[in-house]
This record gives sequence, C-alpha cells and structure tokens, in this order.
Amino acid sequence: MTTSPSIDSILKDQSLDDQARSIAEKVKAGERISEDEGLYLFEHGTLGYLGALANYMREKKHGHKTFFNRNFHIEPTNICLYTCTFCSYSRLIKKREEGWEYTMDEIMDIVKEYDDQPVTEVHIVGGVLPQYDVPFYSELFQQIRAHRPDLHIKALTPVEYHYIFKKAKISYEEGMKQMKEAGLDSMPGGGAEIFHPEIRDKIAGGKCSGEQWLRIHEIWHELGMRSNATMLYGHIEEFRHRVHHLEELRKLQDKTGGFQTFIPLKFRNENNEMSHVPESTVVEDLRNYAISRIYLDNFDHIKAYWPMIGREVAQLSLSFGVDDIDGTIDDTTKIYSMAGAEEQTPAMSTRELVNLIRNVGRQPIERDTLYKEMTDFTDHVFEEDEQFKGYVSLPVVKNN
Ligand code: SF4
Repeated sequence: MTTSPSIDSILKDQSLDDQARSIAEKVKAGERISEDEGLYLFEHGTLGYLGALANYMREKKHGHKTFFNRNFHIEPTNICLYTCTFCSYSRLIKKREEGWEYTMDEIMDIVKEYDDQPVTEVHIVGGVLPQYDVPFYSELFQQIRAHRPDLHIKALTPVEYHYIFKKAKISYEEGMKQMKEAGLDSMPGGGAEIFHPEIRDKIAGGKCSGEQWLRIHEIWHELGMRSNATMLYGHIEEFRHRVHHLEELRKLQDKTGGFQTFIPLKFRNENNEMSHVPESTVVEDLRNYAISRIYLDNFDHIKAYWPMIGREVAQLSLSFGVDDIDGTIDDTTKIYSMAGAEEQTPAMSTRELVNLIRNVGRQPIERDTLYKEMTDFTDHVFEEDEQFKGYVSLPVVKNN
C-alpha cells in the first residue's frame, strides 16, 4: 500500500511543467538527476510528485521490503567539549555533575545486560571528552569482542575519531587501522550535520570539518569496511546547502561504494542554543526523505529514525523513499529525546515494529548491520497474537 500516486500517473499529468516532467522521465529511466535538478525538487517539488518518484525508486530497489534490526545504544557520556548549537549535550560541560561519564566497567555492564537478548548490534556514540581516547576505545572494543564475538560493533563518528587521533598524534589512516584491529565493525553516520562551511561553522564550529568527515569515511571504506551517512536538516541551512551535502555524499559513494544507508535527521529545538529556530513541518520531512531517495541513486537504503519523527510519520515515510526503520532500541539513547524528539522513551518491541510496518502494507525483514536478511516477518504469528481468542461471545439479545 502506498499513499503516493504512481510515476505513470504523474507523467500523464498535463499540467506538469517541463522540468518536473524531464526529472520524472529521468527517474523512470534510471538516470541520475543533476545538482540543479535537485535544487528544483527542493524548491518546487510537490509532496505527491516527490512521493511518486521516490516510491518508484524505493520499490524498484526493494519492492515492499522494509528492514529493521535489533540493536541497543550505549552513550559513554552525555557531556561534550564541543559547543554545537543544535545539541543539548554541550551545555552540560558547565554543570558536569548533572551528566554521566561511564567507566569501562560500567559500559561493559550495559553490554552484559543484553546477554540474553536477541540483539545483533551495539551502537556506541556520545559526547567528546579527553578520557575517552584511543587506548580507551581500543580496550573497549577488544573487551566487547572477547565477551560477545558475534555482536556487531558500530561505533563513533569522525567527530570522535578526528579528536582522538589528533590527541594521540596519529594519522587518520593509522587510527582507523587500529580501530579495525581492535574490533570495530562499522561506523554510524553521525556528525555529518551540514557539510557546507557557511552553515557548519555556525552550528558545529570547532569539530571536524565536512572534508575531514568525508575523508575519515573514505579511509574506512578503503579498508574494506562499511558505514552510514546522515544530514541534520531543517534549521538555518538553505536548500542549496542540502543539495551540496547530498552531492558530496554521492561523489564519495561513486568512489568507494562503502556507504550502506543515508539517514536524514530532523533538527529538534528543545534544550539547545537554537530553540528560537522553528522545526520543519511533517510535509517538509517527507519531501526531504523523498528527495534524498531520488538524489542518492547510488545509496541502497534510506532510513527513518522513528523515535525522532514519531511512529505515524515513520509509517508514512515508507511511501516517500524510506525502506529501513531504525531498530528495536530501548531508552538507552538520550541524544534525541533531550532535544525534544517525538518519543521520549524510545522503545518498541519486535512485535510492535513488525506491526507498524505490516499495517501500511509493507514486508518487515529483520536484517543484520550489513543488511544480510535474517527473518521475514511478513506472515509471522507472534505468541501474544496466538493467545488472542477473537471476539468475546456475547449473549444473544432477542427483540420480541
Ligand atoms: S553534536 Fe556531538 S560534538 Fe556537537 S556538542 Fe553534541 S555531542 Fe558534542
């Protein structure tokens, strides 16, 4: 089931202007759109039109398949040296006692809490502080690897890597090699924000630049490893900055092929220095998913992070190019809830997530981090559903 019109009905629409028609024809023919065309879509693409194009690409790549994985998050600290204006972490450095700074043992205790859970991945990311350095993370990855060898370690972004390698006086190449040897399996997509310096310097000054972010991913891909990418949108950037961001990712992906998934992240305005900036509308969120799908023709997957946008919008997004919904996470992640995300305690059972996907006519597939398909839940019957005995039989009331 899709809420978007088909691409053929869009092409039959006589009122379509020349540029919109030419872009739709390109998408139908599997051709790549240009930067100017990307900008045109952001400036003029209507929701129905964009949904039709994005859904066409999504179904061509994946049919109705909608992926999810079972993971858990660990945030070693919620205090950070940097002062990104959109982030609710950095203000805590002044009131350090209000935050947390886990030790190695405390982090390992969290890992062990999941020993009996059918999770396949641990996602580790948090603030930047000096005690979390190359020796700390190398030791942590080794300990997790030794404790649970099959758990995929997806950890840290170029923001942390740039900082810790600089502190250790080692090159990005040497640093990433050491991380791989310690047990790192893949890199999440965070820290990308907006690459263009006109915006990055204002919202994320001091941390790694757009070029450095891209370079660290490139080196990681050259080691034969995979990673994801994000874009923080809907704040002070203009559409041209989003196009620039997508173009930089598409270029690197052409070169390395190492990205798996693109995750657009909606800016939320609570508890940060940008509370005066209004948030994007749901329509803009869906347009942004759709244009990301259309523009990034060389990315396999577009992911919606459901705790950030809420469950209903996540369902809608499946008709706007999204084919992946971030997993059955529990409330161990505070990054978005602190910034005012839709879900303050983001937890969803596998049954809930599967039903969320099935209820919009899509096919729920559990995957591992590298998109190996593990279980097709399309016709799966959960024990809880089996226990449901149908309608309660009521006494028949006869009207004489
Ligand atoms: S976005 Fe990341 S680097 Fe910036 S202040 Fe927040 S935790 Fe630190």
